[in-house]
Amino acid sequence: MALVRLIYASRMTETCDTAAIQEILTVSRKRNAACNITGILCYDPTFFMQCLEGPKDAVNDLYRDIARDKRHSRITLLEYVEIEKRMFREWSMAFVLANDMDKRVLRKYSGRKGFNPFALSPGQARDLMVEFVKQHRKQEAEPQKNRSL
Ligand code: FAD
Repeated sequence: MALVRLIYASRMTETCDTAAIQEILTVSRKRNAACNITGILCYDPTFFMQCLEGPKDAVNDLYRDIARDKRHSRITLLEYVEIEKRMFREWSMAFVLANDMDKRVLRKYSGRKGFNPFALSPGQARDLMVEFVKQHRKQEAEPQKNRSL
């Protein structure tokens, strides 16, 4: 089965609070591990950007469910490609708060207005998530500074 990477952006709805995000993460890590899906979910108080990697059918099925979820809206596909290998193989779903990330990196990709995944090209979305993951790894190595869920 071909491996694919899918990246989308969306906007949080009012029903999405901290408890809802925690619930999404708990469900995601369980289901994604069971379906051999890895990836990263980034958010700030307005937007989500998520990368899903895994077997094509599993990613397609999950994306269909995610697109129906009322906790976000304006779901917009940024990238959907076949891949040879995964970028985020360690995580059933890494989670990063965009606001916790290095502001220079955010400015490089999003300008002065801050994190806005809708403004990113597929290449920028991918590169930004790779940067996020590098910082996420650093934060994990320094638990006292780790503010991610
Ligand atoms: P159910 O919980 O029965 O869901 C049925 C339908 O209702 C689904 O389409 C679901 O999207 C929607 N739904 C579920 N709970 C709520 C709620 N509280 N409010 C509004 N609608 C709801 N799930 C994963 O497994 N992996 C992921 O990587 C993942 N990423 C997500 C990223 C975002 C930004 C969001 C908003 C959700 C994500 N989810 C993810 C959750 C996903 O949408 C489903 O809720 C979950 O996979 C369970 O789906 P289900 O059909 O098994 O169960």
